[in-house]
Amino acid sequence: MKIVADLSRCVGAGQCVLTEPALFDQDPEDGTVVVLDEQPSGDLVRAAYDAVRVCPSQALSIEE
Ligand code: SF4
Repeated sequence: MKIVADLSRCVGAGQCVLTEPALFDQDPEDGTVVVLDEQPSGDLVRAAYDAVRVCPSQALSIEE
């Protein structure tokens, strides 16, 4: 699986970072998401799906 971020949709809400700071950060300038680990494993896989679910702008998706 691979985390895909669509920066054109990201509104910088930061819900992904709150959900899993090991996977996501925010650009210091515009607040858009920075994916720290696009292909997580173990417990972080579930966290990645949680982040996709909580993102308010559907900016995150998972490629299988
Ligand atoms: S939760 Fe969604 S909109 Fe908010 S920073 Fe993360 S990817 Fe962007």
